Formats: sequence, C-alpha cells, structure tokens
Amino acid sequence: MSPFERELADELEALRTQGLQRQLRQVSSPQGTRIQVDGCSVLNFSSNDYLGLANHPALKEAASLALGKYGAGAGASRLLCGSLAPFHELEETLATFKGTEAALTFATGYTAALGAIVALVGKEDVLLVDKLIHACVIDAARLSGAQLRIFKHNDLDDLESKLQWASALPKAAAKTRSAPRILIVTESVFSMDGDLAPLREIVELKDRHGAWLLLDEAHATGLFGEKRRGLAEAYELGARVEIQMGTLSKALGAAGGFICGRRALIDLLIHRARSFIFSTAPAPAAAAAANAALAIVQSDAGESLRQALWQRVDAVKNVVINAGWSLPPVQSAILPLHVGAETAAVEVAATLRERGLFIPAIRYPTVARGEARLRLTVSAAHTASDIQQLGAALAGLRPCA
Ligand code: PMP
Repeated sequence: MSPFERELADELEALRTQGLQRQLRQVSSPQGTRIQVDGCSVLNFSSNDYLGLANHPALKEAASLALGKYGAGAGASRLLCGSLAPFHELEETLATFKGTEAALTFATGYTAALGAIVALVGKEDVLLVDKLIHACVIDAARLSGAQLRIFKHNDLDDLESKLQWASALPKAAAKTRSAPRILIVTESVFSMDGDLAPLREIVELKDRHGAWLLLDEAHATGLFGEKRRGLAEAYELGARVEIQMGTLSKALGAAGGFICGRRALIDLLIHRARSFIFSTAPAPAAAAAANAALAIVQSDAGESLRQALWQRVDAVKNVVINAGWSLPPVQSAILPLHVGAETAAVEVAATLRERGLFIPAIRYPTVARGEARLRLTVSAAHTASDIQQLGAALAGLRPCA
C-alpha cells in the first residue's frame, strides 16, 4: 500500500469503527415505492419523490420529446450558448407557479443555494442561519466569507438577539450598496426532522430589522399552500420573502434547483451566481420533465395527489406509533424515527432491509453525532398494503423499548 492509500485507508477504518461507513447501493429500477436494490425488490420509504412523479408517464414523455428535439447535452453554460428553450419555458412556468416576477434554474438545489448566497453576501455582510439548515447553505456561507451566526433551531429569541447584534454593527462605507447586508436563511420544512419553521414570526423579525430572507422550500414545494407553491403561500407570505428557493428534484420528481423573486434579483444572479455562470447548463430533458411536473402539480391531479399524500402520512403515523415507536409532532411527509447511536441505527436499517423495507440510517454528518435516525418518507403512491407491511416490519424493532 502506498503512503497515500494507507492514509486514506486509516481514515476509512476510523469511520467504520464509529458506525459512519457509507455504501452506494445500486438501484436497478426506476424510482417508486418498490425499487430493486442490489438485485432485491424492496419497499421504499426513503425517497423524496413525495407525489410519485419521478417515474410518471407525462414527465418521461416530456423528457423524451425534449431529448429528440434538443439532444442530450446543453453544450455550454447558459451565458455562452447553452440557454436552450426548455430552460426559458421552465422559468416562465416557475415564476407563474410561485407568483413571482421571475425565476432562475440551476443544475441542482445545492448549486442554487451556493450561487444565490455567494452572489448576495460577502465578507462585509452577515448570514443568520438555523442550526438545522441543509449543508448546501453552510457550504455557501463558508464560500461567501460572510460573518456566519447560527441561531438555535426555530428559536425566535435567539434569532432576534442575533439580529440585534447584526443591526448594531457599524455601517461600512460601501460605494455601491448598503453594508452590512443581513441575510436570514431557513427551511420551510426541515429535511431531516420534518418540522416547520415559524415563518410568520421570522418574516416579522426580518422586516423589523431590515434583513432579507432566503427561504428553502425544498421539502414544501408542491405540498403546502392552496396552489401548492410552498409554506410561504400557505401563510400568505410569498410577497414578503425576498429569495424563494426550491428544488425540482423532490415532489416535482425531476432534477434541478431554482430561485424565484423580483426581476432585479434574478438579473443580478445571472451576473453574479458563479454556480450558474461557470457550469454547463443541465440536460434540457430534465428541464422539460420539471415543466411537465409543474403542469401536474398546478392541476386538479396535483391537488388529488397532495390529498392522497396527507392521507398516507396519517396512516403511516398510525402504524409507526402502533408498532411502539414515538414520533415528534411533524406536519410533513418526513417522519424521523430517532434511534440515537449510529451503530444501532445501522442495525435497525439492516433488519428492516431483511424484512423487505428500504429506510437507510441517517447519521453524522447529515445529522448531529448521537442523533442517528431512520428518515421515513411517505409518497402519495404508497398503498394501504405497503403501509401495513411497514407496520409489521417495524413491530418489535423499537430500539429503546
Ligand atoms: N435544500 C434542502 C433542504 C435539501 O434537503 C436538499 C436536498 N437534500 C437540497 C437543498 C439540495 O437540493 P438538490 O438535491 O436538488 O441539490
């Protein structure tokens, strides 16, 4: 073994002994409630395909039409020569869907956060983020060089005291803009806990302190609000959130990320979002699939799927509790089954797999050390018998019984 390999092997061994080893499991079927993992058919309760659109015929048809018309690749960054029609169509649809002036799409939600945050704040500015914010925001914060302060999860007092501190910072003599800018970033539905942000109060606080809000609606888009725009719509706050972020990869079943907001915001991002500027545009077929998903989500079929999802969520909560597990009072399609120790979570996930269920253990660094869990997610496509099977598989497995 070379010194290079030895060093990496030692690091991997340390991860293994901490129960933090990870493995890519080959899936040889489309996404759905039943998937083929490593050659075995398993019941899938781990996907973010909340409305069951990832393998929907309308999305596949739209993607294959775009493939026929525009080919496989975009050829270049959108600012060079890759700004193909499907991206423009998707952005028009997104702006209409979210009720904003404009939208900009990115290859992923991750790069949307990276691009937007680094474009909007720099070392003279302040970023206030929730403790449980997604890793893409933390990475963006580091890249931006902004002064990062983390407020306790959903804790308004802590947020307010950090806003007071930021508002009292001396004003810098920046020539072209006010400084420091104060940008709050939170999620509407937290990705690993499934709980909701106290959005009304956060919007009140940010307005009072002249701050801006970037709201990541990754796990709320398509599911909350009368028009299924997300939690900001449900609370009638859409017009007060400066930067509305989301992904096309979860309830929308496709791939990509987006920022919606004022025309000036989108124009600035086109000039300053480096993950947008310096990267080849995504496959046009992905944009066409997302556009087809938005048509479904905005139709009566979208409402039926959403209602089906909430019914399934209630049924899943019942079987989980009847199987002896406790659940925090979540109001989303993400149900965290807390285990605690990393190794115990891995064991529970392995037993479930033996019982034909796929719910991988979520461990550090995705969640804090000692807070390992099974992240159970529900889809509108789950059937009553899938849910029964889940209940049977979970019974007798409660780790702290
Ligand atoms: N934000 C949150 C809250 C997420 O959960 C994720 C994906 N796990 C992302 C952003 C990144 O989105 P994408 O997968 O489209 O890169």
